[in-house]
Amino acid sequence: MSSPDIKSMLPEELKELVLEIGQPAFRAKQLFEWIHVRRAKEYAGMTNLPAALRDQLERDYPLVRASVRDRQVSAVDGTQKFLFEMPDGCLVESVFMRYRFGNSVCISSQVGCRMGCSFCASTLHGLVRSLTASEMLEQIYAIARETGETISHIVVMGMGEPLDNYENLLRFLRLLTCPEGMHLSQRNVTVSTCGIVPNIYRLAEEGLHITLALSLHAATDAQRQKIMPIARRWSIEELMEACRAYYRATGRQITFEYSLIRDVNDSEADAAGLARLARPLQAHVNLIPVNPVRESGFRHPDRNHVQAFKKKLENHGVNVSIRRALGRDIEGACGQLRNRYVTS
Ligand code: SAH
Repeated sequence: MSSPDIKSMLPEELKELVLEIGQPAFRAKQLFEWIHVRRAKEYAGMTNLPAALRDQLERDYPLVRASVRDRQVSAVDGTQKFLFEMPDGCLVESVFMRYRFGNSVCISSQVGCRMGCSFCASTLHGLVRSLTASEMLEQIYAIARETGETISHIVVMGMGEPLDNYENLLRFLRLLTCPEGMHLSQRNVTVSTCGIVPNIYRLAEEGLHITLALSLHAATDAQRQKIMPIARRWSIEELMEACRAYYRATGRQITFEYSLIRDVNDSEADAAGLARLARPLQAHVNLIPVNPVRESGFRHPDRNHVQAFKKKLENHGVNVSIRRALGRDIEGACGQLRNRYVTS
């Protein structure tokens, strides 16, 4: 059996553990701060803890750590892509990006993915396993340690389907935003989902104010079913109902992600259909010219076509942005860096 994972424990859980091993409660506060604020790599450096306690913790509760297997820095825009190795050898991708509004980190929520979207590299080899809360946090902490930069925004848009790993995701979100820890503003956290409807309702009721991004990618069920297997489980109407509930409960505007694929979902009728879905929700649409993945054979529309698609949405009164292509010179789509290691 593996030892309890201290880095995944909420403040009150850590306090219980500390009391259980016969330590005074204030040790829990010290420990939590070392782990989540100072992001200590090991107990050895936790200088205000007695040496005997540090040894005991090291022996009984080893800290989950992500080690850097690869790091690529874009010469164009300073984007950095990290490939981390988790304690069991699993490989996970995360990305550090600079924006005008601050630095953002994109993390993975699973190793691989079982959603099977036809344009996505993360799902090519299926799901290996879900990540724990500490493994999601550790991607951020390790990037903060490696870059020495302040991180103000987090997007859960790397490998995996976060709402297919609900309990760990929620624990991660609570730890990330709690005042005793990194205390990231909930508004600066975005979770992207392919649309697991029951868990959108659950997330709406958690009392969090994070941004939900829905990977829509098509405006009709028939079209969505061709590229996303999840669309056979829940209809677009059911998805929209869940989004309305999310918006009502949290007051947070929803984002629709729409990967533009040449001759698949980039027609005038597609733009009109997308606008009809976005407008009543006042959803923000984020267009992503599809990143070609060798196995999918999909191509993105040319730049003029992307602009024209955007313009059509705007003419329908929709708020649209085109995802900036960051780090073009380092690796393409999500999951590709890992695939290079896993398949080679
Ligand atoms: N499982 C989550 C997070 C996935 S990645 C989700 O489905 O939302 C974040 C976004 O990138 C999703 O919208 C996903 O559909 C999209 N994406 C995946 N592969 C892509 C590719 N090759 N080109 C463009 N967008 C892609």
